[in-house]
Amino acid sequence: MTELDLLLDLHLDGDRQGPGTQKDTLRALYLSALDERSDLYIADIGCGTGGSTLVLAEELDAKIVAVDFLQPFLDKLHEDAAKKGLTDKVETLCASMDALPFEENCFDAIWSEGAIYNLGFDTGLKTFRPFLKPGGILAASELTWLTDARPAELDTHWNQHYPDIATAGEKILQIERNGFTLLGYFVLPPSSWFDTYYRPLQARYKAFLDRHDHSDLAKAVVQENEDEIALYEAYQDYVSYGFYIMKKTGA
Ligand code: SAH
Repeated sequence: MTELDLLLDLHLDGDRQGPGTQKDTLRALYLSALDERSDLYIADIGCGTGGSTLVLAEELDAKIVAVDFLQPFLDKLHEDAAKKGLTDKVETLCASMDALPFEENCFDAIWSEGAIYNLGFDTGLKTFRPFLKPGGILAASELTWLTDARPAELDTHWNQHYPDIATAGEKILQIERNGFTLLGYFVLPPSSWFDTYYRPLQARYKAFLDRHDHSDLAKAVVQENEDEIALYEAYQDYVSYGFYIMKKTGA
């Protein structure tokens, strides 16, 4: 078993694979005004098991293509969409976000919660923009500093793990420099980290370790998650996900 297999196994039973709740998705949707439109074509990129995809499918008159590079997540999404009677609105596609097989100018919106970091925010904006129609919406949540200064331990950790981390002011400048207008921004509250992500994840550790005979690698995966959770618990005033809702300008 590789570390990726183990991560997949640990996260497969979760409703979310990153911070974010149904309420956050609805708030971003409200800021996007997509709910006032019909016959939409939308991509949810890095969808995981589809926590956000299912909200979009329930709320919008839209066809949604949910993209992830891990097929088991997509299988779970397909099952859950079927249970909710949403299969005619949700299609899944196993692809990497750095090699998306779409036509240019095809989407009314691209949604991406807790996933654009896999490209880096700036590269992600550049990668996704061509697939949007003129005036199309990009809604992405992204790790963001909440203050101008912060404790050294936190600063060092995230700069090592995610060098693209920055304040909202810096992210918004990237948004504007990449041909988008910001329509809305909000910060995910601590409950969006704990209620749907960290606490359910911690509740799965025991069964996960049992499934893998408490192997060293499985224990290391749990420890890595615990370290990240402890860091967030200590420093939640300084860091969160910011949700950026933007509109493509120009052609
Ligand atoms: N949007 C979901 C999942 C966030 S976790 C949620 O909010 O719950 C990040 C997701 O990105 C994971 O499902 C992971 O499999 C996916 N991912 C990581 N790298 C990727 C890549 N290169 N292409 C497509 N998906 C990727």
